Amino acid sequence: MTTRVRFAPSPTGMFHVGGARSALFNWAVARRTGGRFVLRIEDTDQARNKPEWVTGIISALATIGISEADPAFEGPYFQSANADAHRAAAAQLYTSGRAYYCDCTREQVTERTGKPDAGYDGHCRERGLDYAQGRALRFRTPDDGETVVSDRIRGETAFPNRAIEDFVIARGDGTPLFLLANVVDDVDETITEVIRGEEHLSNTPKQQLMWEALGHTPPVWAHLPVIVNEKRQKLSKRRDKVALEDYIEEGYLPDAVVNYLMLLGWGPRDSGPEIRPYPELEAQFDISDVTKASAFFDVAKLKAFNGEYIRALDVPAFIDACQPWLHAPRAPWTEDAYDPAVFATVAPLAQSRIAVLGEITGYVDFLFLDEPVTDEAAWSKGMKPGADDMLEAAAKELAAASWNAEAIRAAIETAATAQGLKMGKAQAPVRVAVTGRTIGLPLFESLEVLGKDRTLTRIEAARAKLA
Ligand code: GLU
Repeated sequence: MTTRVRFAPSPTGMFHVGGARSALFNWAVARRTGGRFVLRIEDTDQARNKPEWVTGIISALATIGISEADPAFEGPYFQSANADAHRAAAAQLYTSGRAYYCDCTREQVTERTGKPDAGYDGHCRERGLDYAQGRALRFRTPDDGETVVSDRIRGETAFPNRAIEDFVIARGDGTPLFLLANVVDDVDETITEVIRGEEHLSNTPKQQLMWEALGHTPPVWAHLPVIVNEKRQKLSKRRDKVALEDYIEEGYLPDAVVNYLMLLGWGPRDSGPEIRPYPELEAQFDISDVTKASAFFDVAKLKAFNGEYIRALDVPAFIDACQPWLHAPRAPWTEDAYDPAVFATVAPLAQSRIAVLGEITGYVDFLFLDEPVTDEAAWSKGMKPGADDMLEAAAKELAAASWNAEAIRAAIETAATAQGLKMGKAQAPVRVAVTGRTIGLPLFESLEVLGKDRTLTRIEAARAKLA
């Protein structure tokens, strides 16, 4: 039997890194088993859905390598397009006696049970109500026995059927609820393995009962561990940066993100390196190796991964990858001030220093802006007492120097010695005067590329500001 997995996002306007992890694990299973990855958009919550969100999901998937063009990809299917089947399933469950209509209000249930959050008490079970507007359809859970959920990550869990309340599967206006629609779609799409987030664990015995009541063999389940932040809180869009798009915007490379996400709750069996391309991870992927323990989304580690991926690019690829940050609107300089040849000269120096592509702008802006950026914190850090004397001495030596990194180094060294300063201390005011920053590319190469005139003008301007 072909393995058929699915990724079933509800469109909400942004693509969560947790969703990306679920998609990747499903993708790895589909590809590794020669199976299919079905994309289903759970778009029944019409009030919240927008068509562009669907385009967003498809392009986010493409970003992490899940391409519509791959033979393993199937869909997208839309939950809303299967509404007739949802209603038919509800009718089937009613006709076969596996579901019944109920007109109880929450208040009535509370009054009868004496507990505000008690499950449904079964009041309408034997009343034999027909459908009428306002009557919800409830699934009749078995009175005895147990529902054994077999989960490839968590093993087998037996749920006593008594403990599963008769849950609502269609609202009083006849529209099916998520629990039902999700099962019917999985049945219709002949899904064999449901791999999804742990937050759906409590739905699983109910859904498995519906699979059986509809006459089908339930799928194999796998519930992925929750993803937490450094405070061990579940990642949330209000608190944490969770949108895949935000990471890409900042200059995370998709390959690095994919590599990192693949390791959130899973690791390859061979004890090879963590940093390795997706195909190598896919080749070892087995859903039963996923852990139950929550997975820490360590942004610092992701950043370190990204730095490694940046350094692994060849220089032309690095230059290409930087392009979005070298032009408006992200770059603060004008297009005519940008010189690709100048950038190409410093690119290898920057490549070894940045961890996120977006950092490139701050490393090279001194080359393309008329004046260095004003950063008061950098200024006070670089311009310690004696800075003006150092700048004066440096200007004098640099004016006489021939213009290459080695000669520039010698000139600054001479000036430093004259001032009784170590090279490290001596460079700081020069760096801040010329680049506006305290951290950056190697100083002598930076000055060489900037040119003698602009270097001397900036040192003069800094001295004027100090005076
Ligand atoms: N639409 C559901 C969600 O976004 C998916 C549920 C499932 O995977 O079964 O969480």
